[in-house]
Amino acid sequence: MIIYTYDKGRYLSLEESLKRQPQGMRSVYINMTNRCNCACTFCLRNVKKMDKTATLWLETEPSAEEIQYMLDTAPWTVINEIVFCGFGEPTMRLSDVVQLLTYVKHRHPHVQTRINTNGLSDLEYGYDTSSVFDHHILDTISISLNASNAERYLTLTRSKFGAESFEAMLAFAGHCKRYIPHVVMTIVDKVESDDEIKACQTVCAQRGLTLRVRAYEEN
Ligand code: SF4
Repeated sequence: MIIYTYDKGRYLSLEESLKRQPQGMRSVYINMTNRCNCACTFCLRNVKKMDKTATLWLETEPSAEEIQYMLDTAPWTVINEIVFCGFGEPTMRLSDVVQLLTYVKHRHPHVQTRINTNGLSDLEYGYDTSSVFDHHILDTISISLNASNAERYLTLTRSKFGAESFEAMLAFAGHCKRYIPHVVMTIVDKVESDDEIKACQTVCAQRGLTLRVRAYEEN
């Protein structure tokens, strides 16, 4: 699936979501790529069980124009948030994400926009990528903090950029505050001990960042 919703651990197509719940606002997720510059030990790409009819694995990546067409025909009266997420890292297609964010904000200015990212796009592209989110196209960026220090971060994420990844991700988060109203760092509750969660809270507090401890997504 390229465009989907999420309900109690299950990914649903928009059609299925509307069948189950015709009324009520919902977040809609856009899955653009399976690619990622990390290989996290806990990545759902490796462990998530999905029906063949509701898989997020993409045989081929849709073009930005194909996604835009799908958005043109989406049921906007029940959509209050568009989230770039999916099984890969959305910023692997950064320019397409920016094109679609711009499109969504232009056509539907009251719909919230969010990206869930590993925060490593500066290392992927070699410049301060936070600036691409200028012009109010993005309301929230959710960045995976994953750990309180560079060593544990690398052990968990196996980032292809190595030891510099942790500091680069934190620097990216700091830069995002210039352009994006809500910058939220996340860790997963079941993966971390209480001490590690406290250490992550300290890291975020020192940098003026908000931390959200989110529930691990079960299979
Ligand atoms: S950053 Fe996300 S998509 Fe990439 S390997 Fe880690 S969990 Fe998977």
